[in-house]
Amino acid sequence: MTRPFNFSAGPANLPEEVLRQAAAEMLDWNGSGMSVMEMSHRGKEFVSIYENAEADFRELLAIPKDFRILFMQGGGLAENAIVPLNLSRGASADFVITGSWSDKSQKEARKYCDVQIAASTASSDYTSLPLPASWDLRRDASYVHICSNETINGVEFHQLPDLKSLGSDAPLVIDFSSHVASRPVDWSKVGLAFGGAQKNLGPAGVTLVVVREDLLGHALPICPSAFDYKTVVDNQSMYNTPPTYAIYIAGLTFQWLKRQQDGEATGVAAMEKRNQRKAQQLYDAIDQSQLYVNKVSKDCRSRMNVPFFLRDESRNEAFLAGAKAHGLLQLKGHKSVGGMRASLYNAMPIEGVQALVAYMQEFERTQS
Ligand SMILES: *Cc1c(COP(=O)(O)O)cnc(C)c1O
Repeated sequence: MTRPFNFSAGPANLPEEVLRQAAAEMLDWNGSGMSVMEMSHRGKEFVSIYENAEADFRELLAIPKDFRILFMQGGGLAENAIVPLNLSRGASADFVITGSWSDKSQKEARKYCDVQIAASTASSDYTSLPLPASWDLRRDASYVHICSNETINGVEFHQLPDLKSLGSDAPLVIDFSSHVASRPVDWSKVGLAFGGAQKNLGPAGVTLVVVREDLLGHALPICPSAFDYKTVVDNQSMYNTPPTYAIYIAGLTFQWLKRQQDGEATGVAAMEKRNQRKAQQLYDAIDQSQLYVNKVSKDCRSRMNVPFFLRDESRNEAFLAGAKAHGLLQLKGHKSVGGMRASLYNAMPIEGVQALVAYMQEFERTQS
């Protein structure tokens, strides 16, 4: 059976090899006689799954020794509260607003600290990124927050800002939910990164947090214990029962990622090369057409999430119905933006992009 190509923004497609392995291991993991769902999180079987997942994630993203990796719950939205609860020390934080997700983050943080908008591209309808040199950063901010890939608006930071060179000693917090593991991360510029797994790493239910050690241990007294990064780290992410099955599937995805090759490149570097080619093909097809349009500045277009519009919006339903008939699923745009959105996460093969482009060209030819 060949499966349709699934362009969902999240929960999103997973590598078929991962799904097949999970199916094969469903009733009996590795001769244990148990499904991973039925195991104690403190037993040696699950502890080995957890430790391998953590080590593989560290290797894939080249995470330095002075950063800790946490497997949490609550998703990116909970982190919008958990980050200020842990990092703000009740003082101030600066936010760069480049789309729906960073805007949600700053609104939530206002419950816990003094928030300043250092820059915003709302006036361009979030189709550009503000130059870091123009950011209004406060010297004493406890952190600076950006969303490094805006899933809804299709805007991506292709280079992380160097806060030091902007005169700020604050740690940079990045919400990398929707492009984690699609490209390498320059950890020298980052204090904390968080991301829900359901876009590019695994199923919903587990949130990856990567935090520099010196930022631990400063949670506000009102911070729930289960959300205090220090408590989570001290208990190897098992202060409370972790989302064991989601961690297992993410672990299988990490092993799949480690097996990927593209020329000399392996792992995340191989994914980056593939993701560049996939995005290029789709953006080229959009830019060369008379029917489709993407409104984001070329220098900050997301490789992962490609929003596009039909110049004749009365054709939207026909486009989506035809796509589905061609085995191209979940292309409807986010309700706040409209139009279409194709998400091209790691698990989307180049053949999926080729099939989408072929369908878009065929649909355009039949419109006249
Ligand atoms: C999906 C997403 C979130 C929210 O994740 P939840 O798991 O629904 O809380 C946050 N930030 C970004 C950039 C996202 O893409």
